[in-house]
Amino acid sequence: MDTYIGCDFGGTKLLIGEMDGNGNLLQSKRYDTGLNHHREASERILNCLTDYVDQVGFVGTPIAAGVGVVGVVNHENGNWISLNHIESVEVPLGAMVSAKLGIRTIVDNDVKCATRAEMIFGHGKNSNDFIYINIGTGLAAGFVVGGRILRGANNNSGEVGHSVVDLSRDELCICGRRGCVEGVISGSGFNSQAIRLHDRYSTKLTITMGEMVNVSDIFHLSEEGDELCQILTEQAVENISNLIMNLTRITDPDTIILGGGILSDGWLLPKICDRLNPSTMRGVKNGVVKSSFHPGMVGLIGAAALGIMQNYDQ
Ligand SMILES: [Zn+2]
Repeated sequence: MDTYIGCDFGGTKLLIGEMDGNGNLLQSKRYDTGLNHHREASERILNCLTDYVDQVGFVGTPIAAGVGVVGVVNHENGNWISLNHIESVEVPLGAMVSAKLGIRTIVDNDVKCATRAEMIFGHGKNSNDFIYINIGTGLAAGFVVGGRILRGANNNSGEVGHSVVDLSRDELCICGRRGCVEGVISGSGFNSQAIRLHDRYSTKLTITMGEMVNVSDIFHLSEEGDELCQILTEQAVENISNLIMNLTRITDPDTIILGGGILSDGWLLPKICDRLNPSTMRGVKNGVVKSSFHPGMVGLIGAAALGIMQNYDQ
C-alpha cells in the first residue's frame, strides 16, 4: 500500500504520522518541541523522524512526505523562511527531510495544510470556494478560490488574525495596530483580555500569572452568567462575526469552515451564526460549519496530503 508521511510542527508539539491515500491516519506519534527558532526546530524534526523510523516504523510503503510548520515557508523550494514572522533565514527543510526519508517532500504553512485537509478530504468535496478559519492559540485562515489555495506574493496570505474589526479597543496588538480580531478571539486573545479586564468585572474565572486561562471555563462560566466571562465571549463573538462577514465580501465563498481548539467544543458556533447578517451571507450556501477533523489532527492530515500533490502548485 502506498502511504504518505506527514509532519505537523506546532508551537509546542510535533506530530509525525503515516496516512493512506484516503485520508486515514494509520499511526502517529507526538513529540514535545517548544522551540522558537526554525533552524533548531528543523534539526528537532529530523531527530524525531529518526526516532519515528526506528521506534514506530511504517505500515505501508511511503511514497512522499509533507511537512506543515508555523510561520512562513517558500512552498516552491521547500525552504522554511521564518517561524516567528520576525527572523528570516531560509532553512532547506524540504531537502533535509527528503534526504532523511529518501522520498519527495513538500513543505507548507500549518494553516494552509489544515485548509488542504478540508480541500481534499473534508468540506472541500462540496466546494471550490471556501474559507477555513483556524481559531487556536492564534487566528489565521486559508482561502480556497476556484479550487486553489490562495498564496500571495510572499506565500503569507491568510494572516487574518491581524484584521482590524474593533475600532473601540485601544490596547496595542503585537503587529503594531489596534483592534485586531486575534486580540479577543484566540487562546492568547482570551488570555490577554481576561488579564486586562478581570479587575473591572466580577468573576469566578481562575487567572494565574504565567498560565493561559482555560477557554472552556470561560464558555461554561459565561453560560452561568459570570460577568467577566460574558464580556469576553460577547466581544469574541462580535469580532469573529465581523471578520467572517468582511472575508465573505472579499472572496465570495460558498462555505466557511471554522476549526481549531477554541471551536471544537461547539459552544461558540451557534452564537456566531446568530450574529451574521443574512444579507451579507446569502451566497454562503453551505453555511458556516465546523471543521470535519479533530483540531489536533487536521494539520497532520493536511501535511501528509501535501504528498498526494503531483507538484507544489496544486
Ligand atoms: Zn494585530
